[in-house]
Amino acid sequence: MRVYLDNNATTKVDEQVKRVMEPFLCERFGNPNSLHDYAKEIIPDIKYAYEQIYMGFGANKKDSIVMTSCATESNNWILKSVYFRDIMSGRKDHIIVSEVEHPSIIATAKFLETLGVKVSYLPINSEGLIDASTVRDYITPKTALVSIMWVNNETGAIFPIEEISQICKENNVLFHTDAVQAVGKIKINLELLQGVDFLTFSAHKFHGPKGVGGLFIRSGREVTPLFHGGAQMGGLRSGTINVGAIAGMGKAIELAVDSIDFDYPDVIELRDQLEDEILKIEDTFVVTPREKRVGSTLLVSFRGIEGESMLWDLNKAGIAASTGSACASEDLESNPVMEAIGAEADLAHTAIRFSLSRYTTKMEIDYTIEEVKKAVKRLREISSSYAYTPHTEKK
Ligand code: PLP
Repeated sequence: MRVYLDNNATTKVDEQVKRVMEPFLCERFGNPNSLHDYAKEIIPDIKYAYEQIYMGFGANKKDSIVMTSCATESNNWILKSVYFRDIMSGRKDHIIVSEVEHPSIIATAKFLETLGVKVSYLPINSEGLIDASTVRDYITPKTALVSIMWVNNETGAIFPIEEISQICKENNVLFHTDAVQAVGKIKINLELLQGVDFLTFSAHKFHGPKGVGGLFIRSGREVTPLFHGGAQMGGLRSGTINVGAIAGMGKAIELAVDSIDFDYPDVIELRDQLEDEILKIEDTFVVTPREKRVGSTLLVSFRGIEGESMLWDLNKAGIAASTGSACASEDLESNPVMEAIGAEADLAHTAIRFSLSRYTTKMEIDYTIEEVKKAVKRLREISSSYAYTPHTEKK
């Protein structure tokens, strides 16, 4: 049996999305900027995809949504744009990000530090959560931007975006949220969240294609163009647009939003079953309370078992899980969120992330539970550290 439980890394393309995309490869391949019918006949498809995307985020027609190639691009863009517009001039000198942002934010913030930008890394508490009021303490008169993710990719923790964005608005500070892991799990209505100035998303995290994402820019907020060239995307990101991918992303977001009511309750039930059964195993730990997480993610530590060894055993059994964000998984490092929480080093190295999707079945979860139990037994039997840990009766 093969079980895919790494949906926070990427998801499979929905069949309906694939069908929407196919005609744009060999048949309807025109460049939308041309003046002939090959171009004209695809304009309605592009407009329709935009409508689906605006609706998916509850965005107003006056706002801009610029399609990018991925969330990494959108995140880099907004931080660097704030540098070009507000910091280089000397008007502002400071940004705030959480210490558990995706590497596309953290690494960009570190790069900006080399250019003289002051960066505050907002801490998370022992449950992996952010207290919105701490944002107020970090804001200075020279803060240009606060960037806090909506849902953490490792733990699934939901951060208080509504409150944080409100605090930023009250203090006249721009606010960006990386909503990559929120789409299809939380209903997003940007008309109701006026404090959110910018928002990042990526289609391959919600059963759309890879290589396409976007940046929401609220009406009235200025950004520096990412690519200069033609006038595509209002001159903000020039280059011939990927029509098929954008059409696919339109369908994907429509399905993702619908799935919150229809499929998501089943996802939560399966995740809870997996979590309940794993927590029955001695010396297993989950840091963020269930009700403060999205329903698809479970980050669990197995004392005495290196995360990579567990992944190896699970992979041999056909189960795909993760020890951390896919972008960093080449390094045998401890889980960054567990480190930020201040977890003991041996626990930070034992965290495994299971992330489900609307395609996950009960049979797959039953099978995974059995295989996890087998792996824990085997790996603890050969572990030199586990037998000696003071936290367990097993001597
Ligand atoms: N932000 C978050 C929260 C993510 O989980 C990821 C991917 O894991 C990204 C950004 C980067 O997404 P992309 O692969 O579209 O660049």
